[in-house]
Amino acid sequence: MGRIALIGGDGIGPEVIRVAEVVLEAAAAGHGIRVTLDHWDLGADRYLRDGVTITDEERDRLTGDYDAALLGALGDPRVPDNAHARDILLGLRFSADLYINFRPCRLLVPDLSPLRNTDPGIDIVFFRENTEGLYAGVGGSFKTGTRDEIATEQSINTWRGVERIVRAAFEHAARTGRGRVTLVDKANVLRHEGGLWRRVFAEVGVGFPDIARDAMYVDAMAMDLVRRPHRYEVVVTSNLFGDILSDLGAQVTGGLGLAPSGNLNPGSWALFEPVHGSAPDIAGRGIANPLAAVGCASLALAHLGSEEAAAAVDECIVASIREGVTTPDLGGHATTRTVGEWMAARLAD
Ligand code: ATP
Repeated sequence: MGRIALIGGDGIGPEVIRVAEVVLEAAAAGHGIRVTLDHWDLGADRYLRDGVTITDEERDRLTGDYDAALLGALGDPRVPDNAHARDILLGLRFSADLYINFRPCRLLVPDLSPLRNTDPGIDIVFFRENTEGLYAGVGGSFKTGTRDEIATEQSINTWRGVERIVRAAFEHAARTGRGRVTLVDKANVLRHEGGLWRRVFAEVGVGFPDIARDAMYVDAMAMDLVRRPHRYEVVVTSNLFGDILSDLGAQVTGGLGLAPSGNLNPGSWALFEPVHGSAPDIAGRGIANPLAAVGCASLALAHLGSEEAAAAVDECIVASIREGVTTPDLGGHATTRTVGEWMAARLAD
């Protein structure tokens, strides 16, 4: 039994979440799982209509009454600076202390990668720190708007914050039989935060003697993810580097239309969302690729403890690509909705 909140959000969000919903329903029915799915009206339309992003009461209910939420996308050209998106998304991440941004990047079918030689495959899981670093909002500006302007942005790294994300990466490696964890930083230049991350990485790593560990500078890592991505299994890194590198990882394994992500705090409420944004340029045209959202549905089922149902959904994603039941971005002729219908029928079989 599980409860999942569905937040379509903006742009292509509602279209891809509708597909995630039919896939979730079919997978749950096929595996005898009872899942309650409720739609939540959060996003630009509501903000422009009522002037409300999300109330404190809604935030408490969402994180207290549900096991997880599935969010399509937030971002709308009608809202300056996408203030509503920041308020809703960062508010939920911080209030629920979702310190892990979990981004699996697996090459499902070799042809999907823009890289020439992908043998022996790509299967990397990024653990991006999700609550600190340069995203903590610590800094300020002085003499703003003048030629004497000074702007600062400080990177916040706490021992506790670093320890828990590093430990989560090692625990995931141990649980899933992965043999190596790689720390990515810029410790040769950013010596203070780099020193802290490296010390914690070594200290936590000692507790996992069967897992190899290495450290890479972020610039070398960007090159290596193109040159020999098969070398990496689990990558743990700061908020900013994780944001950038996991997009690179998504691209070398098939692009934005395929990449799911989870905002996690083990044992508590989780928020799953595709890595892509609201893509307003293609919204409402029925061509948005729903596979990233379906990947989020799989992560949500695993979060509920239904590993078998999650594996069935993953298998369905691979089958849809192999059989060419895809949207035009992957070379197919299917619509967003028909991909969902095909998957639901396959899961019902
Ligand atoms: P954000 O800043 O919210 O990440 P963005 O505009 O930078 O948003 P996306 O919304 O992710 O980036 O989209 C970038 C482009 O990629 C879109 O214009 C769209 O053409 C394409 N795209 C993104 N997601 C999908 C998808 N699910 N299916 C097909 N094309 C997509």
